[in-house]
Amino acid sequence: MKLPDGIDISDLAYVTSRKLANENGEKTGTVFMWRTKGEEEFNYKLKCPYCEEEQESSVVFKKRPYRVRCSNCGKSILIEKLSK
Ligand SMILES: [Zn+2]
Repeated sequence: MKLPDGIDISDLAYVTSRKLANENGEKTGTVFMWRTKGEEEFNYKLKCPYCEEEQESSVVFKKRPYRVRCSNCGKSILIEKLSK
């Protein structure tokens, strides 16, 4: 797994990389998400499975299930089994 520049894995409380399926079950998207120790915010790089737009943002999750919203097509994307 490749980390963004300037990020050291020993500083991370959480990191995940997974493929995302669109409504047809095709895995056209990806998400890479990480959280630094001591921070509430999750950072992510997303390739939307629906419109395939790439974007980078951050989010604070209040409750499960965790979802992010595509800034291009507006669809809500479920991040499954976010644990640790
Ligand atoms: Zn989209």
